[in-house]
Amino acid sequence: MEQDNILHDAWDREHLWHPYTSTIDPLPTYKVESCRGASIFLADGTELIDGMSSWWCAIHGYNNERINKAATSQINKMSHVMFGGLTHEPAIELGKLLLEMAPPCMHNIFYADSGSVAVEVAMKMAVQAAISASGSHKKTNFATIRSGYHGDTWNAMSVCDPVTGMHGAFGQALPVRFFVPQPRSRFDGDWDESDIKPLADLLEEKADEIAAVILEPVVQGAGGMWFYHPEYLREARKLCDKYDVLLIFDEIATGFWRTGKAFAWEHAGVCPDIMCIGKGLTAGYLTMSAVLTTRAVADTISRGEAGVLMHGPTFMANPLACAIAIESAKMLRENDMKAVVGNIESILKEELAQASAIPGVADIRVLGSIGVVEMKRPVDVSRFQVECVRQGVWIRPFGKNVYLMPPYVITLESLRTLCRRMLAIIRDEKNY
Ligand code: PMP
Repeated sequence: MEQDNILHDAWDREHLWHPYTSTIDPLPTYKVESCRGASIFLADGTELIDGMSSWWCAIHGYNNERINKAATSQINKMSHVMFGGLTHEPAIELGKLLLEMAPPCMHNIFYADSGSVAVEVAMKMAVQAAISASGSHKKTNFATIRSGYHGDTWNAMSVCDPVTGMHGAFGQALPVRFFVPQPRSRFDGDWDESDIKPLADLLEEKADEIAAVILEPVVQGAGGMWFYHPEYLREARKLCDKYDVLLIFDEIATGFWRTGKAFAWEHAGVCPDIMCIGKGLTAGYLTMSAVLTTRAVADTISRGEAGVLMHGPTFMANPLACAIAIESAKMLRENDMKAVVGNIESILKEELAQASAIPGVADIRVLGSIGVVEMKRPVDVSRFQVECVRQGVWIRPFGKNVYLMPPYVITLESLRTLCRRMLAIIRDEKNY
């Protein structure tokens, strides 16, 4: 019982909202004391090997000395200063590093607050650019594929999957978007041309109402952990060019080497018009995102009715977040990330392949440092996590997907342990 009070705080349970959690019957939460490298230490001293990178952002692990130092040094100069009318070296240096890593067509950078806000900004950019270029106030809607996830703010929600996403909870409040089926050609399988037909048909019919197509390139993350064929992106690019529709890549989950490339567009080799990045940008230290776009889009917006992009958050280009992001980007540049993520991928493939013998498993997918075991039925998160903590690992499944996205600093030995414990948990049906 005493143990229980240390790990599960009663005040927290009574007053604090946790993500997607009922106030009447909240899922248990475990109190964390500290984190280091790829380990989370709970309040009772339990060490958990982290398989989540704190929802995919703590790419260099926790409590990283170099990043801590960069943050402290920046805090002693200025933690924040407004970006309207002022600028600073951290914003400039980070911008240069980002353009080095980004697709070559990217030219202008807008710093935003979080992934969802980046998606809002990207959608605002697309609408302003489309109105400016077409002169039509009708070309303001969006098209996307089913099973996507783009965030929790209003417009971001509107392009999330309409069934598994959050549309149901908001009645008719959300703007109505155009959805086409998710491409079924697997990332590592053959390309089936019929996959692109619904998007081609939609654009043929409705392009005059559509400002942009928004896609998570190659990996659909929180909408179902599905890895689709890069040819879809090449075909989508051709269609967007043909019908004067902008193409937005939401690389918030896929960026910063998560899929084995610096950014996932590289799997297809086609540039988007607008690109959102976040999560790994600040290595899990602070919330910040960025929206990158081409000179053509930026200038089209500036030639439009408003003459400016209509967005300007208080904490735009927060110098502390920029300093952290710079250090993280430098670490990515100095390391052979292809090899680092390649090693993680090989072990995930080798270890998770054993799951094919487990009766409850429907599919196994690995790409870069993402390993997914899809179950035949939805997993009971609460039961699953009790067993995770008992086994000394941190994994948070959703729906039917039990997955790993470990920090890149995880030792290969810990990674094997993480995989084996995960499989041990799913091998025993009473755990989920
Ligand atoms: N887009 C994608 C692809 C994401 O995976 C997420 C977060 N899981 C978001 C947008 C939203 O980011 P945030 O939670 O930082 O608002």
